[in-house]
Amino acid sequence: MKELWSQRCRGLIPYTPGEQPKGRKLIKLNTNENPYPPSPQALRAIKEAAGEGLRLYPDPECTELREGIALALDVKPEQIFVGNGSDEVLSLAFQAFFDPDKPIRFADITYSFYPVFADFYGLSYREIPLDEHFSLPLAPFLEPGGGVVLANPNAPTGRELDLCDIRSIVAANENSVVVVDEAYVDFGSRSAVELVSLFPNLLVVRTFSKGRSLAGLRVGYAVGDKDLIAGLNAVKNSFNSYPVDRLAQAGALGAIRDQDYFRATATKIISTRACTSGHLRSMGFTVCDSAANFLFVTHETVPAKVLLEGLRQRGILVRWWDKPRISNYLRITVGTDEDMQTLCQALREIIAEQA
Ligand SMILES: *Cc1c(COP(=O)(O)O)cnc(C)c1O
Repeated sequence: MKELWSQRCRGLIPYTPGEQPKGRKLIKLNTNENPYPPSPQALRAIKEAAGEGLRLYPDPECTELREGIALALDVKPEQIFVGNGSDEVLSLAFQAFFDPDKPIRFADITYSFYPVFADFYGLSYREIPLDEHFSLPLAPFLEPGGGVVLANPNAPTGRELDLCDIRSIVAANENSVVVVDEAYVDFGSRSAVELVSLFPNLLVVRTFSKGRSLAGLRVGYAVGDKDLIAGLNAVKNSFNSYPVDRLAQAGALGAIRDQDYFRATATKIISTRACTSGHLRSMGFTVCDSAANFLFVTHETVPAKVLLEGLRQRGILVRWWDKPRISNYLRITVGTDEDMQTLCQALREIIAEQA
């Protein structure tokens, strides 16, 4: 019954998010949430903000939060833009910086929201094929063109791009914007934030969802030259000037101030990731080198679809895509050590059943 929908709405192909199960107790390794709770300081700040003040609109400019982020990253508050999750920030960036007649370049295997945004805003794009090891070929990104979007570390592969390569890409595209989506940078890779003061065309997008355990709060931000930030504000303020609510601003500020807690949880995930990779390799999996909080894996004999179903029957959710090149892979979020032991045990059983 789509008769009442606009033509444009009828043609949309929306992003399919990972399942958020209700009821039954499952081990959720399918949407890259952090297995550890948010910082106690963040929770305290949210509780304090949940009072009478809620009758007032939030600060449309997220002033205090931007100051807190700027302090943590050693940049100026004018270089920060805050939105409802990095998905919103990315969506505003697509509108602010890309034009329909100049194709945006991104990898063929990357965050599947990029083509969704491009289609939604009527933008054209070129999907650059990763090589057989899922490495990014540099040459197509070194020609000037209509903008670049890179996830670093990449999703769903977890592979990290060298900061020197990012620098070369940004330098080669001085007349268009290069967006670096650092949703997973908190798990051990080097951030491109150190380049934003050198390159006015670089926008780094980050989130509180993964490294800061606040996926439920919806806070993300961009770091870039003040003129890029002004472009994001121009788009945002043309249709909704109050997007980030009071609880979200307060919680994110609490989280960014608690660097010790953040480092402790990220370190734990990095060590669980290393340990799990080893176990999976010993079971016959090929595991992409991951700098993120997930592992992208394929088994030498058992098809990914069989593993996916077997895990599901045992109450463990992981992510699988029915897409060319990656349909024999699973993406597994790094949970707690206990989650990962349960996962490995389940995989051993499924593999043994298939032998
Ligand atoms: C999770 C994710 C995001 C979105 O994060 P939110 O801040 O929760 O909207 C953006 N980019 C990539 C690559 C992600 O995996």
